Amino acid sequence: AKERGGGVYEVFDDGMRERALRRLETENSLRRALLHDEFVLHYQPQVRMVTGAITGVEALVRWNHPERGLVSPAEFITSAEETGLITTLGAWVLEEACRQSAAWSAARPGHPPITVSVNLSARQIAHPDLVATVAATIERTGVDPATLCFEVTETAVTDDHDRAASVLHQLKALGLTLAIDDFGTGYSSLRALQRFPFDAVKIDRSFVRGIETSEQEAAIVAAIVSLSHALGLRTVAEGIEDVRQVQRLRGLGCDTAQGYFFARPAAPEALAELLGVTPG
Ligand code: C2E
Ligand code: CA
Ligand code: CA
Ligand code: CA
Repeated sequence: AKERGGGVYEVFDDGMRERALRRLETENSLRRALLHDEFVLHYQPQVRMVTGAITGVEALVRWNHPERGLVSPAEFITSAEETGLITTLGAWVLEEACRQSAAWSAARPGHPPITVSVNLSARQIAHPDLVATVAATIERTGVDPATLCFEVTETAVTDDHDRAASVLHQLKALGLTLAIDDFGTGYSSLRALQRFPFDAVKIDRSFVRGIETSEQEAAIVAAIVSLSHALGLRTVAEGIEDVRQVQRLRGLGCDTAQGYFFARPAAPEALAELLGVTPG
């Protein structure tokens, strides 16, 4: 062990240095991963609650690490946000999701289009180029913007309300739709519904989980569904894992379902099969 002359100050400095170093390491490995094209998108179906028909998918990023295999976004999204690399990663995710969406549409002529939902982070919304990037990506990939949905958490729009509202309105003007993600987990969710031009509400998994066991949770979900409908918003329940949750949510009039009970997030080839797209 090393002698600490300066006591607290030196400990503080070491901690700072270590954290800065770790952050630099993470940043470098994410940067390398982007360069080497190591990210992949998996897609999780969203189904109509009453029929079970697939109406859309949520694009969820994974890091296909050469040694560690598929790494979950929980392990790198925060770092990507902290280092600002989420801007580059997010642009890649958007491009990839739009390409995939356009390809599925072209492969299923005469079928109703599949909506592809993409998660947008706070840093992306704060970036001055976001709207231009999205517009250019729509243009370049030929995706029908009506089949594109951005999922935005309430916390991603709490920094500067007026600016965020303006960005969301500009995105909507491109023809896409917006969903408020993890709804109910923040502190001013109701205000967010009023302030921002959302089309859909994603009921957070934490509420869905308790729906059969807790009358309180069930009451909250019932209230979210009826409030959303009163405001003209669609409702999507995430994290559905069993049939009783489906029955309960169906009874409450929830529109769309997503969760392991229907399908786990899967590679595009597996999704193509679910969508009845023949490869080649
Ligand atoms: P999220 O937006 O809330 O996405 C839903 C998460 O719940 C996904 O985890 C999904 O795999 C998981 N999930 C779906 N159904 C079930 C279920 O029935 N049970 C359980 N226990 N989990 C379920 P995943 O893929 O690990 O993503 C975690 C988070 O990482 C996402 O949470 C999202 O916040 C973030 N994320 C993923 N991809 C992106 C991206 O491209 N950009 C950004 N900014 N964030 C992303
Ligand atoms: Ca989401
Ligand atoms: Ca969630
Ligand atoms: Ca989330």
